[in-house]
Amino acid sequence: MPDIAALLTGILSEDEVKYNEPMSRHTTFKIGGPADVYAEPRGEDALAAAVSALKDAGAPFAVVGCGSNLLVRDAGFRGAVLSTHAISGVTRVGDCLRVGAGATLAKTAAEALRHSLAGLEFASGIPGSFGGAVFMNAGAYGGEMADVLVSARVLTEGAAKDIPAGRLGFSYRKSALAETGGVILSGTVRLSPGDAGAIRARTLELNASRAAKQPLDLPSAGSAFKRPPGSYASKLIDECGLRGYTVGGASVSGKHCGFIVNNGRAAAADVERLMADVIRVVAERTGYILEPEVRILG
Ligand SMILES: Cc1cc2nc3c(=O)[nH]c(=O)nc-3n(C[C@H](O)[C@H](O)[C@H](O)COP(=O)(O)OP(=O)(O)OC[C@H]3O[C@@H](n4cnc5c(N)ncnc54)[C@H](O)[C@@H]3O)c2cc1C
Repeated sequence: MPDIAALLTGILSEDEVKYNEPMSRHTTFKIGGPADVYAEPRGEDALAAAVSALKDAGAPFAVVGCGSNLLVRDAGFRGAVLSTHAISGVTRVGDCLRVGAGATLAKTAAEALRHSLAGLEFASGIPGSFGGAVFMNAGAYGGEMADVLVSARVLTEGAAKDIPAGRLGFSYRKSALAETGGVILSGTVRLSPGDAGAIRARTLELNASRAAKQPLDLPSAGSAFKRPPGSYASKLIDECGLRGYTVGGASVSGKHCGFIVNNGRAAAADVERLMADVIRVVAERTGYILEPEVRILG
C-alpha cells in the first residue's frame, strides 16, 4: 500500500491528520475499528487535493460526513478516511443556500430558518452532513434532498464540477454517486421565502414526532433497512416477532423496529449478524427482501 502519510504531507497540516484513529469516535453507532489515517481537511481545495493525491497513488480512501449512516467493521479501514467535518460554511444567495459538504443538516435548516426560507424543515432532525445527505438522497416526512437541491459541486476524475441535481441520478435513498464514487464538496439548495414562525413550528412538530417514535437515547444509524416497495421494514420486522431481537450488544429497537441500536458494547459483527438474521427471517415469513440502508466500511 502507498505511504498515505507521505502522500498527504504538504497537502494537509499535521493537526488535520490522525493515525490509527478509532472510527467508533466518528459514527453515531459508536462502533468501528481504527482507520490507518483519519483526516479533517479544512477546506474544499484541501479535500480535493487529498482525494486527487490518494486516487493518483491508488491508495484506498473513503469520504465520510457525520457517520450517521455508517457501520465501520471491527477491524477498521486500511487506508485513509477523509471527513468533511471542517467544511461547514452555509451562505445565503437570494432564495438559495450554498452549503459546504460537512455542514450538518441541523445547521443548514437553522440557517434557512434564520433567513425565513422554507423547504428544509424535513431535514432538520436528520443527524447527517449536507454531503452525506446528498449522497444518500436523505429524506423524511415527505421531503428529500432531490426536492431542494439545485446543483452539487462534485469532484470526479480530478476536476471539481457543478453538476445539476437532475443529473445526479436520484432515487429513493440513493444517488448515482454510489456508483460513480464522486466526492461532494458543496451544493446549493433552493428554498422559498416563508414565515419564520411557521417554519419554526413545523420544525418543532417534526422533531417532536421523531423523538416520540425513534430510540434517540441509544446509538444507532437510523433506519437499518430501506423501505421495501409496498410495505415498511419496521412493520415487517415487528410482524415477524423480531422486536427486541438481540445479537451480542446489538438489538432491534423495542421502540422502533426499523432501528438497530447499540446497547453500549456492540461490535460491528453483532450488527451484521443481526441484520443477516432479520433479512433471512423476514424473507422466509413474508417474501419481502429487505435491503440495508446502512453503508458498510472496512
Ligand atoms: C437517529 C437517526 C435518524 C435518522 N433519520 C433519518 C431520516 O429521517 N432520513 C434519512 O434519510 N436518513 C436518516 N438517518 C440516516 C443518516 O442520518 C442519513 O443517511 C444522512 O444523510 C447520512 O449523512 P452522513 O453525513 O452522516 O453520512 P455518512 O454516514 O458519513 O456517510 C454515508 C455515505 O455517504 C458517503 N458520503 C458522505 N459524505 C460524502 C461526500 N461529501 N461525498 C461523497 N460521499 C459522501 C459516505 O462515503 C457513505 O457511503 C438517520 C440516522 C440516525 C442515526
